[in-house]
Amino acid sequence: RTRTSAELIKAEKPVLAHNYHPLPVVVARAEGTWVEDVEGRRYLDMLAGYSALNFGHRHPALIEAAHRQLDRLTLTSRAFHNDRLAEFAERLASLTGQDMVLPMNTGAEAVESGIKVARKWAYEVKGVPADRATIVVAADNFHGRTTTIVGFSTDETARSGFGPFTPGFRIVPYNDLKALEAAIDETTAAVLIEPIQGEAGVIVPDDGYLAGVRELTRRAGCLFVADEIQSGLGRTGRTLAVEHEGVVPDLVLLGKALGGGIVPVSAVVGRREVLGVLRPGEHGSTFGGNPLSAAVGTAVIDLLETGEFQRRAARLGTVLREELTGLVGRGVVGFRSRGLWAGVDVDPAIGTGREISERLMREGVLVKDTHGSTIRLAPPLTITEDELRSALASLEKVLAA
Ligand code: PLP
Repeated sequence: RTRTSAELIKAEKPVLAHNYHPLPVVVARAEGTWVEDVEGRRYLDMLAGYSALNFGHRHPALIEAAHRQLDRLTLTSRAFHNDRLAEFAERLASLTGQDMVLPMNTGAEAVESGIKVARKWAYEVKGVPADRATIVVAADNFHGRTTTIVGFSTDETARSGFGPFTPGFRIVPYNDLKALEAAIDETTAAVLIEPIQGEAGVIVPDDGYLAGVRELTRRAGCLFVADEIQSGLGRTGRTLAVEHEGVVPDLVLLGKALGGGIVPVSAVVGRREVLGVLRPGEHGSTFGGNPLSAAVGTAVIDLLETGEFQRRAARLGTVLREELTGLVGRGVVGFRSRGLWAGVDVDPAIGTGREISERLMREGVLVKDTHGSTIRLAPPLTITEDELRSALASLEKVLAA
């Protein structure tokens, strides 16, 4: 007998670490924009695995690439070459306008790798004295969960109880070029920021901020590292969010959608003068660059090269914006959006983000709160206009109830 949703939720409790508080839905199948629970109830997925499912669930081209590769070769480790990695790296570098690729698996690993590369670059190229390199980051950042990364988080829940932390980070307010300029000095290896802060509530900086960061870092002779793990690969209507300001960072961190929602794939992409500082033995990962990941990642690049998903995100992003604008004053107190990505602040009198998410779930729409009364909308970029409007109609209904 297969267990019910309620039974499965109960069964997790004694055996699974409680590091998440999922909505009470147990997904068993999915296709495109839709997921189905154990009992066969269908839900519109408006979270898309925090942007890991930009192309929807089980996109046929990605599934086919994975199947084909599963039947041939899955893992070699980097002790040997594999016949899929060269093309993946060439195509990813070309897609992002960069020279070189360092393949990893998860987002946090890409961030850690970017930090290591920036520090090495600072010592070997910039000439920062040994162990003095600093990296400037933004308040309210989210770059992952490893000890080094949570060490420069400003979220007490993420940090507290996990110290001592790695030194060498300076925190400045986001979207504040003056504060950033003041924090940069001759020890600065890099400025590491999200072009749009996702977990903070889809915080879109002022026009000119990203170009300003580029200009400041160029003048100061330090690197601009853009964490595009959530903002990148079509979500905002461009391949990368930095493209909205015509900016090319020195290093770009990618993850989530790069694995097509099938396998964990992340990467640091960057200029040869920077990524070229790594030599054999200095960094690595058993699974990084494995042929299955490379095959799926290459199929993701195929999809992105058509431009179709970026165009959909831009076009449907205007629908999202228009619908949300219509809800302001009717349960929504404010929102920020770019492309198919929005942070929606709900009137706290109506409910917490969690409560709104649970009510939406009962309406057959899956979203996730960030914190307080903010919910985040980030559907697969394959969503239709009708599906998008119907999800927003559900939100309207929940807010009016
Ligand atoms: N960086 C950003 C901007 C993210 O949004 C996330 C995940 O939400 C990460 C890094 C960490 O990625 P992962 O959970 O794959 O380690």
